[in-house]
Amino acid sequence: MRCRHCQAGLNHVFLDLGYAPPSNAYLSEAELHAPEVTFPLKLYVCDQCWLVQTIDYSRADELFAHDYAYFSSTSQSWLQHAADYADMISKRLSLSQRSFVIEVASNDGYLLKNFLSAGVPCLGIEPTSSTAVAAQELGIPVMQEFFGAQTARHLLQEGKQADLICGNNVYAHVPDINDFTEGLEIALKEGGTITLEFPHLMRLIQHTQFDTVYHEHFSYLSLTSATSIFSKAGLRIYDVQELPTHGGSLRLFGCREADPRPTEPAVSEMLKREEDFGLLDLRLYKDFQGKANTVKNNFLAFLLEQKELGKSVAAYGAAAKGNTLINYAGLKTDIIDFVCDAAPSKQGKFLPGSHIPILPPDQLAARQPDWVVILPWNLSEEIIKQHGNAVTSWGGQFAVAVPKMAILA
Ligand SMILES: [Zn+2]
Repeated sequence: MRCRHCQAGLNHVFLDLGYAPPSNAYLSEAELHAPEVTFPLKLYVCDQCWLVQTIDYSRADELFAHDYAYFSSTSQSWLQHAADYADMISKRLSLSQRSFVIEVASNDGYLLKNFLSAGVPCLGIEPTSSTAVAAQELGIPVMQEFFGAQTARHLLQEGKQADLICGNNVYAHVPDINDFTEGLEIALKEGGTITLEFPHLMRLIQHTQFDTVYHEHFSYLSLTSATSIFSKAGLRIYDVQELPTHGGSLRLFGCREADPRPTEPAVSEMLKREEDFGLLDLRLYKDFQGKANTVKNNFLAFLLEQKELGKSVAAYGAAAKGNTLINYAGLKTDIIDFVCDAAPSKQGKFLPGSHIPILPPDQLAARQPDWVVILPWNLSEEIIKQHGNAVTSWGGQFAVAVPKMAILA
């Protein structure tokens, strides 16, 4: 096995979560009677470029491509995050009607609609047809394909290069990260800016967010590894910001290597912090499995104690990270009765692996569970705001398992 970025041999396991089905492979009732495919869920760290990564599987593209589509606009806090970003970057880059913005993985248009309403010409690139169509219905032009060097060359041939290319939560999900980054370079206009957001490996380790690991999440990035990937593609990271999203993310600002813009001090400061944290030292990676196991075991102990007391337990949020946690903990419907999710496309289906049924949120009030475990802990505040009054009215309580087992007010 070789590193996806630098081709060095991969010899160090960072995390082994056993076997799991693809995290978005929600099952219909009929599919419950069929065999279910699982893959090793194992991460390696490269001791040359420090990219943490899943291993490659043959037929991965086919097996991880599910018809399930996540609509970004389902989350109010994510919509606000996108609007704030569009406002910030438009001012910082002085974007106007003469500018051109490309968003890679534009989803349902949750972000580009902000540029559209400001009169800034834009283009979305999105392979999933249902979300692409939703964006087109808002009036956003969308190319329905995966982004990479080849797509970028087509855009270049059509004379399309962007003043801004943005990618929020796509970089970590790209199988061929070198090809994708090369595409960013090709599609960038001279003097243009690339911004990418992705969960920060340093936060994943610091807060034991092992549940953010799943097969479709190919890369676990730091500024250190991203700098190496950008450099190989002829790009330079000239600024970096920390964001609270997804438990702690980085937002990179990139430009061509030869761009006259200076590199902000924030870049060397973050590289130093990563080194001080231990991201360039194998020992940090070797310790992580034990920490993940402790979080999982504490969650199990809590659940078993509640079952012993005769309490009922439901979960909220049928997101990828919930599936990783539930499957690693080996939970089934004898412990967690059901999970609620606001996305109509998931309701009536079953979580992969655990086969826990996914119900609409109004089923909380109908069934009145004693405990509601919030699986997407990054959305705890939003979920409690929506359902807190109802749940406390029948004496129910909220809990989270990550970064540690905790009862929420
Ligand atoms: Zn490497």
